[in-house]
Amino acid sequence: MEKKLYIETLGCAMNVRDSEHLIAELSKKYNYTLTDDIKQSDLIIINTCSVREKPVAKLFSELGVFAKIKKTEAKIGVCGCTASHLGSEIIKRAPFVDFVLGARNVSKISEALDTKHAVIIDTEHDESNYIFEEYRPNPYKAMVNISIGCDKSCAFCIVPVTRGEEISIPSNLIIAEVERSVQNGAKEVMLLGQNVNNYGRRFTNKSDIVNFTELLHAVSKIKGLERIRFTSPHPLHMDDAFLQEFASNPKICKQIHVPLQSGSTEILKAMKRGYTKEWFLDRCERIRTLAPNTTISTDIIVGFPGESEEDFEHTMDVLEKVRFDQLFSFVYSPRPHTLAAHFDNKVDNTTASRRLSELQARHTEILDKIMESQLGTTHKVYFDELKSNSKIAGRADDGKLVFVNGGEELLGEIKDVTITKTSRSLLHGEVLS
Ligand code: SF4
Repeated sequence: MEKKLYIETLGCAMNVRDSEHLIAELSKKYNYTLTDDIKQSDLIIINTCSVREKPVAKLFSELGVFAKIKKTEAKIGVCGCTASHLGSEIIKRAPFVDFVLGARNVSKISEALDTKHAVIIDTEHDESNYIFEEYRPNPYKAMVNISIGCDKSCAFCIVPVTRGEEISIPSNLIIAEVERSVQNGAKEVMLLGQNVNNYGRRFTNKSDIVNFTELLHAVSKIKGLERIRFTSPHPLHMDDAFLQEFASNPKICKQIHVPLQSGSTEILKAMKRGYTKEWFLDRCERIRTLAPNTTISTDIIVGFPGESEEDFEHTMDVLEKVRFDQLFSFVYSPRPHTLAAHFDNKVDNTTASRRLSELQARHTEILDKIMESQLGTTHKVYFDELKSNSKIAGRADDGKLVFVNGGEELLGEIKDVTITKTSRSLLHGEVLS
C-alpha cells in the first residue's frame, strides 16, 4: 500500500544528498511517496544540522509541533548530524520520536524504521561501497558523494564528531553513478565531500585513482557530461596541479568555494586550519590568474575566541583583496565536543554582531558592483528549472542564476545568453539564437 513521506532537510549539500538517499530507499523498499503535508504523512523525517546551536535548539520545538499535528499512527525519525551527537538523548527528551539515525548510517534506514526507539549513530560505519537506490528531484543535474566524513580537526567544527573520519568512495563507484545520472538526463554533476580535494589519501591500492585532480579528469571523460562542480575543497590542498586542472579543463565550471574562515593568520592557527593569510591570498590570486572569470565564494566566522580588532581587520583586508562573489558568514557558535568550546578569551556578542554587520555590509557593496558589471556580458547558461510568468531559470558556468523568457523547449539545454538586466541575486537575459 502506498504510504506518504514528509521529509525536512536542514544544513549542507551533504545532508541534501543524504535525504535523497533516504527518499530513494524508502520509496523503493517501502513504497513511500513524498508529500509536503505533515497531516497526511505516515512517516515524518527531519534531517538535522549541528553546525551552529540555533538549528539544534529549533529541533525540539519542531518535533513538538510534529507530534501535535501528525496522524496517530504516523512515525517520526530524526536523522543527520544532531542525531549523531545527541543520540538517545533525543528519545529521552522527546519519547514520541520513533528512531534516531545518524549521518553516515543512511543505508540503515530499514533497520531504524523497523525497530521502535532505534538509535543508530555509529560514526565508524563504512557505507562507502553501498549503492543507494536512485532518486533525483531535478533530472538535469546530479549531486554525487565522493567521500564521507572529515580527517581535519578545525577547532570550531563538530563535523568530524558527527560524520566521523574521512572515507573516500571508490572511484569506479563514483564514475558509475555519474554515468547513470547522465543516462537519466543530467548534463551537470556536483561532486560532494567535506574536503573534496583530500580525496583518495587513504587509498592503499595503487590501481585506484588516488587524488581529486585525477578524479576530476576521469569524470570529465564521461560522454554526455557537460559540466562538473564540486564542494567543499580545502584551501590547504589547493596545489598547483589541482588549480591547473581546474583552470584548463573546459568541463569544470569556473566557480569555486574557498572557505577562508578568518583572514588573520593568528586566528587561523587557533582554528587549526593549517594555512596562513598569505597562502590563502596566493591561491585566490593563482585561480584568478589561471582562470580570470572564476567566481570565488567563501565562509567566514567572526567573533572566534581571541579575535582582536586587528585580526578582524585582516579578515576585512582579504575581503577587499579577493572581492568574493558569494559570502556565507556567521558569528562563532560554540559546538559541543570541539576544542574551541573550551577556549577562554570569548568575544562578546555585541562586538561579534557588529563585526558581522560590518563584514556583510561591505560584501554587499562589492557584490552589487560585481552584478552591475554583468550588464551586456554573455554567459553559457544551463536551463533546468521552469519558473512562473513564462520564465525559465538556469546557472551560468560561473554559478550565477539567470532568468530568460522561455519554457519546456529550453529545459536541459545550454545556451548563450546576453544579460539585459541585473540585480543583487540574479540576472535577466535573452537567449542568443
Ligand atoms: S575541514 Fe574543518 S570545517 Fe570543514 S568539515 Fe572538516 S573539520 Fe569541519
